[in-house]
Amino acid sequence: MDRASTIWNADAECMPRERLCELQLRRLQQTLLSVAKNVPCYQNKFRETGFVAEDLKTLEDLGKLPFTTKEDLRLNYPYGMFAVPMREVVRIHSSSGTTGKPTVVGYTRQDIQTWTELVARFMTAAGVTNEDIVHIAFGYGLFTGAFGLHYGSEAIGASVIPISGGNTDKQLMIMQDYRSSALVCTPSYGLTIADRMEKQGIDPQSLALRVGLFGAEPWSEQMRTELEQRLGIIATDNYGLSEIMGPGVAGECLCRQGMHLAEDHFIAEIIDPDTGVVLPQGSVGELVLTSLTKQAFPMIRYRTRDITRLAYDTCDCGRTLARMEKTRGRSDDMLIIKGVNVFPTQIEEVLLQIEGCQPHYQLVVERINNQDQLEIQVEVNEKIFFDEMKQQRAFVTEAEKKIHSALGLGVKIKLVEPASITRHEGKACRVFDRRSR
Ligand SMILES: [Zn+2]
Repeated sequence: MDRASTIWNADAECMPRERLCELQLRRLQQTLLSVAKNVPCYQNKFRETGFVAEDLKTLEDLGKLPFTTKEDLRLNYPYGMFAVPMREVVRIHSSSGTTGKPTVVGYTRQDIQTWTELVARFMTAAGVTNEDIVHIAFGYGLFTGAFGLHYGSEAIGASVIPISGGNTDKQLMIMQDYRSSALVCTPSYGLTIADRMEKQGIDPQSLALRVGLFGAEPWSEQMRTELEQRLGIIATDNYGLSEIMGPGVAGECLCRQGMHLAEDHFIAEIIDPDTGVVLPQGSVGELVLTSLTKQAFPMIRYRTRDITRLAYDTCDCGRTLARMEKTRGRSDDMLIIKGVNVFPTQIEEVLLQIEGCQPHYQLVVERINNQDQLEIQVEVNEKIFFDEMKQQRAFVTEAEKKIHSALGLGVKIKLVEPASITRHEGKACRVFDRRSR
């Protein structure tokens, strides 16, 4: 496949930085005028900080603006953050909140077109073409994932199978019979599919599958290798969140050196999650996004809580858009145990290096006698689980040692039976913090 055929919109994706910055500034000014006129939450925020939208003259001025947080969205539930009247809104999505009310987002017709364009970009970057049969195993519904990938596939001209989530046996039958070549789902559901394939004795080479587009939850490089080997595919990562648009905010090209961020539609900043200070280029921190073209639901400096790093040098694929590293977890998923910052993905990376460990695990944090204790419940293959006590013990000791040297933290490993940890079709839920109870 030649390079040009994997770029959907070369004009936008390979734009010189100078022209990109001019475009960002112009679009940012328009967005600020819109929210200052139409969204009471921003009117109040601007008033409190003495900011006047017309005064923004450079991109650096963005740093003077207050952040938008999930709490703002909660306080303005359901439609308070919309910048257009409902008659211009053609679609409503929402993200499930773990506590309380969900977040509601809206799209104008133009917003849906932008979304389609941006998903078509990253799908093309991952090598999807009009020859592909795209198997969308994200749940269709209020969640943005399925619809985003659906529109992108259709724009490319691929054939879409909107199978939605769940019923893994049926997924496999369709995959075999309809010759699905591109799989769209969460990485953890990808592994569930791989488990079932192995159980049914299906050889991945007998399928037409060649590429996986995984998103909606953080995952490690080890998990990528695992998915590639077990499904016989190239596994690519993409990034998005419903508050910003859904999938399409960023996606990997085949160089797989980070996900290209659609900077002509979003400005990205990296901040220190504790102080809110903008960090210098190349730092690891929390991603903050400002939308530049959204009409119905513009977001100014939205704190994503996702921890990552951005690179600005031109990629081998020819795109000039900044590349975002795989997310390292969320700043609010981050566990602080005995003063050590721990992300589930760090533990996953270590576990998957140990022979016999399955990629299914959960973390339980408890406070016992005022001491924080992290227990990692790990599934192991049948051979190890039914091994003699002595071998099991040796396995646990090795795993504990490896985690200790990687994290600098003593943990307790508990082996659990194969297939005993609940599989999630949506985002995997791996952390149970019982300290506050
Ligand atoms: Zn690239």
